[in-house]
Amino acid sequence: MDPIAEIIKKINLGCMTQAKSNTRDREQPMNKTQTFECEICKDAEFIVVNKPIYTEKENGISKEIYGPVAEPCKCRELKYYKRILEGSGISEVFQSKTIREYIPKNDKQKQSKAMAIEYINNFHIIRSQRNNSLGITGQPGSGKTHLTIAISNELLRRGIGVLYLQYREVMTQLKQVINDDEQYQMQMNRFKSAPLLLIDDLFKGAIRDGKVNESEMRIMFELINHRYLKQLPVLVSSEYNINKMIDFDDATGSRIAEMCKGRTIDLIGKELNHRMI
Ligand SMILES: [Zn+2]
Repeated sequence: MDPIAEIIKKINLGCMTQAKSNTRDREQPMNKTQTFECEICKDAEFIVVNKPIYTEKENGISKEIYGPVAEPCKCRELKYYKRILEGSGISEVFQSKTIREYIPKNDKQKQSKAMAIEYINNFHIIRSQRNNSLGITGQPGSGKTHLTIAISNELLRRGIGVLYLQYREVMTQLKQVINDDEQYQMQMNRFKSAPLLLIDDLFKGAIRDGKVNESEMRIMFELINHRYLKQLPVLVSSEYNINKMIDFDDATGSRIAEMCKGRTIDLIGKELNHRMI
């Protein structure tokens, strides 16, 4: 079956099941064998709504004619973000990480877990504030990826669109299209407009002689400055702490510092330290 026919079939199936589930009598035994991630569209990612499709004139009076129109369901955007995370280079082990599974081994890690939980639980309020972001820095293996991915997973589960940006990979892609304005803007716009952006391993592989590669810094400034002005939050994980980021570039670093104010932790040690009691 071709993909479009498949979608229409799914929509039709969804509508029929939806019509059934809309009946008030939920005690009625229903088909329980199938569960859906999204009960609204039954995972078809589209819903059929009745909308005016054209205007007809009858005896001089114009009348709107309604008809069924397929519209993307609100879960579609979230699924798009989930697919990006799943399709990223991040191992499956990380993709399913939860906050609960994060076992702190020292005070810094304990603080960072508490900070992550506070962020998740209050995100609906925090997101519209000036200091709406969170930064976890530390050496590879310090647990920063676990925590930032776990925050993303939990917020995605709660219906917040979190776009995953793996710094090294995305920088390489953006630099390849930097002279093609249309392509470049198209890619950048996704990162600029996502409800929450997770920047994983910020500045990884960008430092030479203590300085960040110039074109990468320009790209990061454009992105960070846009989100800063629009008050759109970021989750940052990096090997480099906030002070170091300000050293690299004052304009970019100080904006990150302001966005993450009150929610930055520098995890120094490694997460996996078997000698630690
Ligand atoms: Zn849906």
